Amino acid sequence: MIAYFPSIYPDELVYSLCSRYYAHSGLPCYSMALEDLFDDKSYRVNYEFSGHFSTEAKAIINKMTSIEKLIKNHTMYPYYARFVSTERREAAFGTLCEGNHLGKQLPIPNGNDIRYLMYCPQCSKYDRDTYGETYFHRIHQIRHIKLCPHHSCLLRSTGIQITSNTSPRLYVAEEVIPRNSISEANTDPSELSLARYMAEVFRQPMPTDTASIGNYLTYRLNNTPYMSATGFMRQTAKLYHDMREHYADCPYRQHHIEKTLIGHNLDQHLIILIAFHLGISPQDLAIRSIPASYAITTRKREPTSYSTRKGAQMQDWNKLDRESLPRIREIIKRLLVDSTGRPRRVTERAVCDMMGWPSKRLNLLPQCQAEVHRYHETMSQYWAREIVWAYKKIQDNSLRLNWRSIRDLTNIRRCDFIVAHPLLCHYTDPETCSKIISL
Ligand SMILES: [Zn+2]
Repeated sequence: MIAYFPSIYPDELVYSLCSRYYAHSGLPCYSMALEDLFDDKSYRVNYEFSGHFSTEAKAIINKMTSIEKLIKNHTMYPYYARFVSTERREAAFGTLCEGNHLGKQLPIPNGNDIRYLMYCPQCSKYDRDTYGETYFHRIHQIRHIKLCPHHSCLLRSTGIQITSNTSPRLYVAEEVIPRNSISEANTDPSELSLARYMAEVFRQPMPTDTASIGNYLTYRLNNTPYMSATGFMRQTAKLYHDMREHYADCPYRQHHIEKTLIGHNLDQHLIILIAFHLGISPQDLAIRSIPASYAITTRKREPTSYSTRKGAQMQDWNKLDRESLPRIREIIKRLLVDSTGRPRRVTERAVCDMMGWPSKRLNLLPQCQAEVHRYHETMSQYWAREIVWAYKKIQDNSLRLNWRSIRDLTNIRRCDFIVAHPLLCHYTDPETCSKIISL
């Protein structure tokens, strides 16, 4: 039974509202608050989105605002939905309004970067002076934002990890954020402009009739040094180079930029970095209007090279296929055994790495791909080859021969050793075969 429900503050996260409900309700433990709000005391409230509210909680929220407004104005939905197609965005919005999990409906980077709930000491002070308590603001949770766009001081971490597998715990901002937290001034003016830009983009409305982000960014390359005079060739290498100069810690590579420009990468942070570098206003980035006179659909391109060495350019794949074959054969030879004679597996990935190619390049080169496939080995085949190599090595060095010495050289597990037995005959003579099996 919900006797009292706090009102929601400007830009407050839904998660923060839930934890304030717990703090204000006087309930002895947060799981009881979860039961009130979600009919489930072990419910996991997502830090960035919302949740499946109980009928009672939903009715109270609907009196205060509406579930739709709650999603738009109090979750990170606008951040993650900004650059996807209208259909995808609306489907995700529906899912969130129903209180369900998004799954893959929005492009949420699942990178390994550990993130924390962030706060601004000066915003917290303002909240406490104005409302008598502080809360978690959305604007401070934008990925990679470093400064408070209002106070230009460095954001601080609460130490509470935001991961996809969130703890069900309700952390109350008023308890977590120290009262005497010192705000550290930022000394880099470009960092402040970027933070303000990120916040501005986040606050923009989301019009429905927009060009796709890849097409729009490509269109905006026109009349910049990043597009050839004919308007057909993107100069991605130059863009990459200049962005590395612009942003001290740009974590992206040239192929990430290339994929963004053709619409295959929807990483919000990278899109914002490109747009900011190109001087696109937050309003233009939200509206993404391409004049009819610029017909992007007529600009048909050959499959594009994502190569970090060559950048975007027209490729004659048949020619490349033919010409690369001798090098592929050589690389396979080098891959089959390493410099110590130890066997290695020939995989598409290993070949591409050695060629300096992106991992899917072989899909465009049938002859080269077929050559690599000729050397395909199952794990058991590989183990058999490795065991024979180890056996010979032990013999050559006149070492003690037993199962242990094989294991020490190959790191193979006993069960894998046994699985490989029937295949040993393909790599050595029957006599050696039975000697190995007897181990
Ligand atoms: Zn602030």
